[in-house]
Order: sequence, then C-alpha cells, then structure tokens
Amino acid sequence: METHSRKKKVLYIEDNVANRLLVRRILEAEGYTVLEAEDSLSGIRMAQEVLPDLILMDINIPGMDGYEATTKLKSIEALQDIPIIAMTAKVMEGDREMALIAGCDGYIQKPIEVDRLPRQVEEFLGGKREEIPLSEERVYLREYSQKLVDRLEEKIAELTRANEELRNTDRLKSKFIAIAAHELRTPLTVIQGYLGIIQAKDSSFQIDDKLAEMISGIVKGVERLNNIVMDMLDVTRIEAGTLQLRLTPASLGEITQVVIDRMKPFADKRQQHLTVDTFEHLPRVLVDGERIQQVFTNLVSNGVKFTPDGGRIHIEARLVKGDDQKILGRSRTMQRDFVEVIIEDSGIGIDVEDQQRIFERFYEVKDSSLHSTSKVDFMGSGIGLGLTIARGIVEAHNGWIWVESEGCDIHKCPGSRFHVLLPTA
Ligand code: ADP
Repeated sequence: METHSRKKKVLYIEDNVANRLLVRRILEAEGYTVLEAEDSLSGIRMAQEVLPDLILMDINIPGMDGYEATTKLKSIEALQDIPIIAMTAKVMEGDREMALIAGCDGYIQKPIEVDRLPRQVEEFLGGKREEIPLSEERVYLREYSQKLVDRLEEKIAELTRANEELRNTDRLKSKFIAIAAHELRTPLTVIQGYLGIIQAKDSSFQIDDKLAEMISGIVKGVERLNNIVMDMLDVTRIEAGTLQLRLTPASLGEITQVVIDRMKPFADKRQQHLTVDTFEHLPRVLVDGERIQQVFTNLVSNGVKFTPDGGRIHIEARLVKGDDQKILGRSRTMQRDFVEVIIEDSGIGIDVEDQQRIFERFYEVKDSSLHSTSKVDFMGSGIGLGLTIARGIVEAHNGWIWVESEGCDIHKCPGSRFHVLLPTA
C-alpha cells in the first residue's frame, strides 16, 4: 500500500459492533487510524473534533439515520470536503441515489468484502466521487425532502407522547405529595394533642427527669415532622394555585425583625454575624406578612446553613422604580414600584448551573444521602422544598426571586446573594 494513506483517519459511524470490529481490523491492517461512533449524534460530534479524512456512514442506524447524519455533516463548513461513503445492506431501487442526494460521495454495499474494502476506501481518498445524473436529481430531491418531513412528523408525535407521559408522572408525584401530607397530618395532630396534655403544667402525670428528656426528644421529632408536612402542604397549594394570601401594607422593617429574632439564636450558635439595614426610608410593601416572613426565614436559614462558622449573613433592601430595566425585563403589568430585598451570605456559594434548579422541588446540590438533617448545622439540609416554597410565595405576590453567586467553593466561600422583588403598597 502507498505510504501517503498510512496515517489517514477514517471515522466509521455504525451501530453494529461486529461490523465495526471487522472494518477496524481490515483498515488498521492497511495502516489507517480507525475511529468509531455507535450513533449519528456522537459521530457528528466526533467528526468535528477529529476532522477525519473519510467517513464511512452506516445508513440504517437507529435514531438519526445515515442519510440525515450525512446531510448534517455536509452542512458543517469544516467538514464539507470530507468524503462520506454510505454503507448499506439494503439493496432497494433508488437507495444509492437517495444516499447521493443526502450528500454522500459514494456507496459501498454490505456485506463488507475484506478484499475489496481497502481498495474502495483508497479510491475515495484519491478523489473518486459518484454522482447522480442531473435529470434524476429533481425526483430524488423531492422524495428525500418528503422522507425528511415524514420522519419529522414521526419524531414530533413521539416527543409529544413522551412529554405527555412526563406530565402524567409529574401529576402523580404532586398527587402523592398531597395525599402523603394530608394523611400524615391527622395522626400528627393526635400526637401533638397528647403531648400537650402530658406537658401541661396542671397535668397529674408523674414525670421524672429521664421521662422528661424522652418527651422532649419526642416533641422535637414531632416538630420536625410537622415542619416537613407543612412544607409539603405548601408545595401542594402552590402547585394547585390555591395559596391564600392576606395582602396588607406592611413594614419591611417589622417583617425582617421577626425573622432576625427567630434566626439570631441559630446564627449565634455558629458565631455568625446576622445583620440587617434599616428600612425606614422605604415604602410599605403589599404582602402577606406571615408568608413573607416564611420566605425570609427560609433564605436566612439557608444562609446560616451554607456559611461556615464565624461568617456573615446580611439583609439589605432598596427601592426599584417601575420603569427600571430590571422590572421592564420581567413584568408585563408595569408601572408599579418594587422593593428589592437582598439576603447576602459569605457562604460556600452556588454553581451557575444550579442557580435555576435549586428552586425546583426536592432539588439539592449535594448528594442528599450525605447530609445531616439539621436546620442550621453547616451544610445540613432539609428536603429541598425551602426555595420552591419561597419562589411560589414570592411569585404569588407578583414578585420575583433569583440568586447570584460566582460559584460553589467550600474553601474560598464566594457567597450567595438572594434577591426578592416585592410590590410596594
Ligand atoms: P433545603 O431545605 O434542602 O435546604 P432549599 O430548597 O432551601 O432546600 O435549598 C436547595 C439547595 O440549594 C440546598 O440544598 C443547597 O444546596 C442550595 N442552597 C440554598 N441556599 C443556599 C445558600 N445560601 N448557599 C449555598 N447553597 C444554597
């Protein structure tokens, strides 16, 4: 064999392992480098990466077929001059022409012939090109575009079905959360009722220290369970659009003070500085005060959890005018001023690709089997509903919530900034 073809790269796109092995053996023995792709999409990717000297294309490959892959490959500028040779076992009338119309430069019929293949490859590398007579081109072009439209229709139908199935699964998941939350609430209420009786000051029960300790353990467990059930119920309401809001003009200062009072003991325990600006200069916001307290509590509690001991969590706010770009970009119903509350921490931060997803149900960045279930321990996590609820509540107020962070780094701690936009009264 001539030396010029010794180091030539041949990419073989083929789903059948036995065929790949055979072609590899034959061509490697002739001094070619053979690269393999088992489907069209990875083949297209590989072709762009390695820029082979020749591509052998199996036509009947599942998914995107060989014709379509060839048309795609030929549409990529960097690949336009690479000969693509169709390989097919199907010998129906017009197959060869269809391959040429799709962009192939030649056609090799399977079964692969050990003796002939090296010569065929060499010919195409040497410049051989098969062509379709001009007079037949129109007919085959029409046939090819008809085939493409049929395939497109088939794929859209498949996608629509798959989408419907996904939606169904999602509905089932929502239903499960709703049923589980309701079913858990009743026995929980009973347990809480009995605990209340046992712990009442005027109860006649004899409770020694040991028993008191056990009861306090039960109370803590029940509280935690109760919080989870309440979160599940909130998510159910948010998804069903039945979250009831009692909107009144409220002072941001008062709302954040409640949150600070609630969260300060936890921050203190972690030697963190939890601070808040004064908001006297800001107008009142039109909100359900308790629900917004819940939002800020979730955000501050995350700040505490994802910031190392000794870090800081700070709340600030400013007025955003209705014609501000920030609002114009988001709202259709305009001309209303907003207050933007920012909760900033000096914690581990959040990777850019996670910044949208953390607002989804049950989404946690870290492997949930590894985390402790504490509300405030460093990196301790809940069940991944806190931000989903926060977003649901904020959006029910016609507001927005989003996060900014340079990325997640446990050592450098770039921090996170959660922004909440709330309408003014
Ligand atoms: P969870 O109740 O599990 O904390 P959330 O919905 O509140 O769930 O948060 C989802 C995930 O987002 C968390 O598990 C965490 O990975 C990430 N996250 C939320 N807040 C912060 C923050 N301030 N800093 C870093 N990561 C955060």
